[in-house]
Amino acid sequence: MRKQFIFYWLMLTAGGLLAQPPAGNYNANSRFEQLGASLPTPNTTRTASGAPGKDFWQQRADYDIKAELDDEKRKITGTETITYFNNSPDELKYVWLQLDQNLFEKNSINATSQNNSIQNQMSSNAVTGLNAPSSVRGSVAGDFSFKITSVKDPKTGQPLKHTINGTMMRIELPVGIKTGQSYAFSVDWNYFINEYYGRAGYEFFPKDGNTNYFIAHWFPRMCVYDDVNGWQHKQFLGQGEFTLTFGNYKVALTVPNDHIVGATGELQNANQVLSSEQLKRMEKAKTATRPVLIVSQEEAEKAEKGKPTGKKTWIYKAENVRDFAFATSRKFIWDAMQIDQAGKKVMCMSLYSKEGNPLWGQYSTMVVAHTIRSYSKYSVDYPYPVAYSCHASGGGMEYPMISFNGGRPEPDGTYSEGTKYGMIGVIIHEVGHNFFPMIINSDERQWGWMDEGLNTFVQYLAEKEWDKDFPTRRGEPQFIVDYMKQDAKNLVPIMTSSDNIMLYGPNAYAKPATALNILRETVMGRELFDYAFKEYARRWAFKNPTPADFFRTMEDASGVDLDWFWKGWFYGTEAVDQDLVEVEWFALDTQNPEINKAEAKKQAEAKRNTVARQRDKDYIKESVVDKNPDMKDFYNTYDPYKVTEADKKKYETYLASLTPDERKLVESGVNFYTLKVKNKGGLPMPVIVKMQFEDGTDSVARFPAEIWRLNDQNVSKVITSKKKVVQWTLDPYREIADIDEESNSFPRQPAQPTKFQLFKSQGFQRGPNPMREAQQSQPPKTGQQGGAKN
Ligand SMILES: [Zn+2]
Repeated sequence: MRKQFIFYWLMLTAGGLLAQPPAGNYNANSRFEQLGASLPTPNTTRTASGAPGKDFWQQRADYDIKAELDDEKRKITGTETITYFNNSPDELKYVWLQLDQNLFEKNSINATSQNNSIQNQMSSNAVTGLNAPSSVRGSVAGDFSFKITSVKDPKTGQPLKHTINGTMMRIELPVGIKTGQSYAFSVDWNYFINEYYGRAGYEFFPKDGNTNYFIAHWFPRMCVYDDVNGWQHKQFLGQGEFTLTFGNYKVALTVPNDHIVGATGELQNANQVLSSEQLKRMEKAKTATRPVLIVSQEEAEKAEKGKPTGKKTWIYKAENVRDFAFATSRKFIWDAMQIDQAGKKVMCMSLYSKEGNPLWGQYSTMVVAHTIRSYSKYSVDYPYPVAYSCHASGGGMEYPMISFNGGRPEPDGTYSEGTKYGMIGVIIHEVGHNFFPMIINSDERQWGWMDEGLNTFVQYLAEKEWDKDFPTRRGEPQFIVDYMKQDAKNLVPIMTSSDNIMLYGPNAYAKPATALNILRETVMGRELFDYAFKEYARRWAFKNPTPADFFRTMEDASGVDLDWFWKGWFYGTEAVDQDLVEVEWFALDTQNPEINKAEAKKQAEAKRNTVARQRDKDYIKESVVDKNPDMKDFYNTYDPYKVTEADKKKYETYLASLTPDERKLVESGVNFYTLKVKNKGGLPMPVIVKMQFEDGTDSVARFPAEIWRLNDQNVSKVITSKKKVVQWTLDPYREIADIDEESNSFPRQPAQPTKFQLFKSQGFQRGPNPMREAQQSQPPKTGQQGGAKN
């Protein structure tokens, strides 16, 4: 109900409604103070603005690798010469290398630190798996760790003393590498390839007896030595990904001569490994607007039935990359389409066995091309000459210029909507990783969110550009609500070391992606955000940023103080829960006796309308005063609400005292609403409120998060409106991830019943496949293959 208040003009002439002193517990200072000591002290390597400083340096490692795949034994044997350039200000007595395959050792930290327990009922697999590395999902038990057969100085032939510590190896150098110097050493190794576990491995197809190989972290790789950690040699436990140094690669891969290979880098000897027909098709791909088949499904199926007659060596070169991976199989279909990205030619390609069709032929390479264009717009132009998407059994995993992606149709060629969009989404995501972290080279072993979160955010933008109705899984604020509502014991801040993160998907992917989306749409606006985000990418392309470099650059380039936001979203685990406690309604008292006395009369009459009075109307047939009019006097007809001459005079005197502006305000009839909003969740966010007016129109008011800076628990805000508001709604477009919508309306909306279903158990069912149902109701088509077409 509308309350009236007396117009007090001193306040208005002082310039409107004055800021209110804080009420209740004052706690906001810590939320809106600067991050200060939480960030590392800036220096000449990393500046206070978040940019690389004048003394920025990073190491470089060039690789010359020769390796052979033994398809029978599923074994890789390799030799490499690493030339390590010491650009640090420090002399290095020893170097550290990463032996990622040692993740699979029985005594690895990964295997032995898994928590497990005995259940009442356990399968034999579960029992034997009690001490197996958890990340070797479904793999054949075995020893897939590296066998290091030689570490030596190639110039002198002298062996180098080396010590293996789990997934790391220290090599002692004959003399220290001084600043500005380089040192070359060589390592020989071999290992048996594990079954695909989400990052790398083989997939065997029992039907045709062939194997697809997706090969990564397959050679001893340099650890990063930098200004942040010194040597980053945190053990590989499976969850925390990779921290790697840029360099140039020359790689010769020897495989059975009926294999098709795709790898990081540009193929150097196409004339030797491709047929003249394949070379011709590759030429066609340079000007095509749809993918051109280099190897068709028919040709791949023919190869599946054949046997190799020898070996072939595929030679690749890659410049300024942080890693090298490859895929190889005789089962591969291969398509390609070249695009022009800001004047640079990029050959977009896909490798997939027939099991991936029809989805892969139709979408994969088109999605690769779209991803490169879309990400280049939001970050930096794609700098590499090729980009592959390869079809692995599931999941998605990224390496420079190449990624291994799931998304497989049913054997009959139909697929669910989830499979289709899952496949397109994962290709966008993994190709997108070329930018974060392959170019903007963050430390994945330490900070999962710096690549996964930023990448998932740009993935969201790219998915919408692919299809405005794309069923994006992560990035929309409302999708993070279930995670934010979790019991506190399941939550850790985004700023948590990769291997210690619980609920990795929501924590490292969805929450940071959502936070960035909120920054872009709600806190900063698209223009300020996009400029700052691109500046971050530009500053740190081919360098190794830290969280502070990101936080500082986003503020430095936009001029928006975001410390409160980083604190709340990245350093904390609180949720957003705003409660619209009440809205008080006021109007200026006009002091007009005609209006005020009429209103007072109406109210008094309403109060007199008691139940007894209603019943007495018929019950008391005739009262004493009705029967005896002489029992009435002045007060039986006196109306205290009648406007008197004295009332009128007083009102005229009041009006005469007002200036014309003041008089206009008093007579405007404007409504004043005081919103009382409570911050129940703790995480301060802008207050966004929609007003629905009596006449059916609406309007939205927005107040910045700084509204909470003097009181982080309760705020009160006055909104004036000529129109009468009938309904108030906080966060009407679901943009701040408020975990409780019910407390967002005033008056409260009538609750809807929570529906529950009568459940008939039908056992385990996969998602719906309406495509198959539709096809089953159609007569079969003739002369149509499931494969991709040019
Ligand atoms: Zn990822």
